[in-house]
Amino acid sequence: MRHQVSNDQASFAALAAATLALMAVTAFLLTTSGATTRGWVQQKQTDSSPASLDKSTITEPTTTPDVSKVASVETIVGHSVEGRPLVCRTIGDGEYVVLMMASIHGNEAAGTPLLNDLAKQVVETPDLLTGVTLVLLPVVNPDGVESGQRYNARGVDLNRNFPAENRQNSSRYGLNALSEPESLAIYQVINDTLPNHIVTLHEPLQCVDYDGPAKELAAVMSEFCPLPVKKLGSRPGSLGSYTGVTLGIPTITFELPGNAATQSPELLWRFYGEALIQAVLYRHPTSE
Ligand SMILES: [Zn+2]
Repeated sequence: MRHQVSNDQASFAALAAATLALMAVTAFLLTTSGATTRGWVQQKQTDSSPASLDKSTITEPTTTPDVSKVASVETIVGHSVEGRPLVCRTIGDGEYVVLMMASIHGNEAAGTPLLNDLAKQVVETPDLLTGVTLVLLPVVNPDGVESGQRYNARGVDLNRNFPAENRQNSSRYGLNALSEPESLAIYQVINDTLPNHIVTLHEPLQCVDYDGPAKELAAVMSEFCPLPVKKLGSRPGSLGSYTGVTLGIPTITFELPGNAATQSPELLWRFYGEALIQAVLYRHPTSE
């Protein structure tokens, strides 16, 4: 459903084709010159109309990226209530650890293709990962995604199930902290990898929200995408309350707009990919 094209986007097909052409140009530039401008930023800097790009500049890359330069490991870190595997992909082996996750709310799944595209981008451009280990949990609530609902299969809001100081026990938030296998798996990944900062992708509040010492990172990400920084306030037992406020790890809640579910992965990457790359490049000052 999330890739469905809405009827009011009459020029969507043309725009998507132009986007693909733009990405081809970008991939070519990245491969041949190491240029760092991508996606939304590239479009801002070149022309407001991607259709006017000179097609003659689109050339097949002459060299293949050396994917062996970057380590990439996929592990199963747990299983959902209904037994679906919770996949963790670890890319790179640097000391500074960036954790990103998506689809903790099953009806907010637009972040998953973004994280998959981010993985592809960093593998193709290993310099982005200098000194970094990128830990990705692209689908942390697979049962909710399958049924199209916010909660897990037991009706618990996983983003209220963490052992934060402001936690509240309830049937909706879980009778105890970490009562759900999905939130427990996330907790264990955090304990095992000790991330220096964390980004979680949500919808539909259309902003870059943050918990803990992440004001600067939020500003950086906002600069590279069409989402403003907004402090929404810490929800009881949320991941941000736990990692950001209780543990003091800079934590971003990257809230895509409501129409993100109707946009293609290509369009999503064009608008939000650069902000995610900036989050990979960012170093929290006290962590240095
Ligand atoms: Zn959400």
